[in-house]
Amino acid sequence: MAISPQDIAQLARESFGLEVAAEALDGDVDQNFLLRQDSGERLVLKVAQEGRNQDLVALESSVFTHLAEYAVGIALPHLVGKGQWQGRQVRLLSWVPGELWVHRSERSAALRRDLGRALGRLDAALADFVHPAADRDHDWDLRHASRAARNVRWVPEASRRALLDAALQQYSGHLRALAPEVRRAVIHGDANDYNVTVSADGERVAGLFDFGDLGVSWLVAEPAISAAYIGLGEDDPWAAACDLLAGYQREYPLTDEEIGVFYPLVCTRLVVSIATAARRRAAGSSNAYHFATEERAWAALAKLMQLSPARARQEALEACGRPATAPRPFSKSEILAARQRHVGPSLSVSYRQPLHFQRGRGPYLFDQDDRPFLDLVNNVCHVGHCHPRVVAAAQRQMAQLNTNTRYLYAGLTEYATRLTAKLPEPLSVCYLVNSGSEANELALRLAQCHTGRDRMVVLEGAYHGHTGRLIELSPYKFRGPGGRGEPTGDVTVVPAPDSYRGRYRAMTPATGRLYAAEVESALAAAATSPAAFLAESLLSCGGQVEPPPEYFAGAFAAVRAAGGLCIIDEVQVGFGRVGDAFWGFELQGVVPDVVVMGKPIGNGHPLAAVVTTPEIASSFDNGMEFFCTFGGNPVSCAVGLAVLDVVEEEGLQERARRLGQRFRSGLEELATRHPLIGDVRGRGLFLGVELVRDRSSLEPAATEAQAVVEAAKQQGILLSTDGPLHNVIKIKPPLALDEHDVDRALRALDSAFAGVQG
Ligand code: PMP
Repeated sequence: MAISPQDIAQLARESFGLEVAAEALDGDVDQNFLLRQDSGERLVLKVAQEGRNQDLVALESSVFTHLAEYAVGIALPHLVGKGQWQGRQVRLLSWVPGELWVHRSERSAALRRDLGRALGRLDAALADFVHPAADRDHDWDLRHASRAARNVRWVPEASRRALLDAALQQYSGHLRALAPEVRRAVIHGDANDYNVTVSADGERVAGLFDFGDLGVSWLVAEPAISAAYIGLGEDDPWAAACDLLAGYQREYPLTDEEIGVFYPLVCTRLVVSIATAARRRAAGSSNAYHFATEERAWAALAKLMQLSPARARQEALEACGRPATAPRPFSKSEILAARQRHVGPSLSVSYRQPLHFQRGRGPYLFDQDDRPFLDLVNNVCHVGHCHPRVVAAAQRQMAQLNTNTRYLYAGLTEYATRLTAKLPEPLSVCYLVNSGSEANELALRLAQCHTGRDRMVVLEGAYHGHTGRLIELSPYKFRGPGGRGEPTGDVTVVPAPDSYRGRYRAMTPATGRLYAAEVESALAAAATSPAAFLAESLLSCGGQVEPPPEYFAGAFAAVRAAGGLCIIDEVQVGFGRVGDAFWGFELQGVVPDVVVMGKPIGNGHPLAAVVTTPEIASSFDNGMEFFCTFGGNPVSCAVGLAVLDVVEEEGLQERARRLGQRFRSGLEELATRHPLIGDVRGRGLFLGVELVRDRSSLEPAATEAQAVVEAAKQQGILLSTDGPLHNVIKIKPPLALDEHDVDRALRALDSAFAGVQG
């Protein structure tokens, strides 16, 4: 309800015995008034919003009392009296003198440094302030800045939304990983250009008011928030921010890690401000103060986002007196030139303009400018790039013991026990090797030894590894460029159980049985009996295909009836990725004879495994020793254990299920608006989007798929294409991503599709 200045004058008389003239002031939430007494003395009267949390009012009052004990060196408000107006809390505060920062036309670097120093002294004074209401939850706290993403949709212009998303991705990439190393503290949290006053000569900060955002946050958010606002309207907002930071550092030093996140935090505060204004506009706000910053913030954000995060960090460190230490990195062109000379040319590089990465964390890879790219394709770094737990386990073990499996050490047996506990009986014996290819090779040998046969049955479009025999078993390779085209040796290729483009097109048990019958008839037609059927539980290179229900039950029955073994390759999809199960084959309720694991098992460390039954293992024990020099060494086992720990403790299978659903339904929604999307499929965080030029002829849209991947890269999202027709966009990110990453990726894909289709 609006309160008039007359109401306030009356309130001042009745509650505080003051004769005043009242005048309304700006306010974000509370209603604020300037009271002038006849004596010329000024006061501020704040009428809290209806229903405002009493604890927060008490928190503010308590901080004024606390700060009165310290020499912060600028004027701060103190509490003069308390009252009520129609059930709303009323507080009478001392007036903070000086001219508002925002009203000064010129602001010197010295003044900005002075503001930094004042904030440093303030935070030093707040260091021993404790209050039960201080650890509160509010959207302006930069720890929760990802919530601003909800409001991005209220911004009408696509290019502006993309700018906000880029800044939010920068925030997510740079802060989520660092969070444990960044100190928390009670901060003012809103030293903006409307809350800071300047002395009459313009040389010093005079005061600071509005403690409405006070609370626990990251300490470095204090200078970052202020810097975001004092850069508004400046030619070089980053230089202005660094001036403030330098002053802060003199009074209350930050660590290098904290200085390292100053730049993304400054950008993020502008995003929060802009996104909040957009929401308030959409909700019909008529409070001009809600939009006071908006256009200036767009301009400043656009300038700040032109900087490279690496350069910005270096400048922030230098402003804080740290010497320039960045070593000269190799340039992209130097690396490409050396690659051309010294690396086999059959290896390709992703993207028309290749990416050069320097580091990784969580679901992010950071390029040479320290820009974060959201990695949606690397299922190897399953629990997140460079997961600290996995890194520490490897470092610890590497410094203690690394030997081979001919000696006893607890890591091997502990790991074998933990890993086989993840599998149904009778899968209880394991062999540890170094790569998926090696593991598949070993699986073939197990089958050959056990059955005394050589014939292998594989699926159309499959890839199982890069060794000579595995290329013969990988139609994806032998049918592709440089391949022989047709199977050679004892190889039977059966149709891929693809319910979108294959022979039978429905995701039903009936089609599952029809595809299984194809296996049966291929076996009947083959010249020799099979050693084994080798298939991925969900097809990866085959185009992110989930077989229809009952496929494996039927196929396994046919293979076993012919005396063959069933080998399931879980290299791409195992370890919880599919969400509803730990292993892909479990989705179909079957138990293979041999399971092959790779990629995610070591989170990037070269480790792979074959797990089988005691019976098959004993057939393999035919006198010839099996020994793999590096396989199952103590470091690999420590890494494997750490990966299992993280998957379990961080609930990554459940996360894959939940985020997979969110991603998939978002993609299905995109399909309603983008006719290029022919099919959306997959389980958990193993998803595929098949692109077609025509939804009835299914004409594949491979160039369009590539163009979408390139366009997504422009927005910092890494994807790639696969499938025999190269028209399937594959999504299989590290399981460390969150809702905001999923939503941002969907927005990027939306505009990428719009661009490619348009
Ligand atoms: N099986 C599948 C299903 C794969 O995708 C791959 C690798 N892409 C392999 C086996 C071979 O693994 P590696 O590259 O570790 O030898």
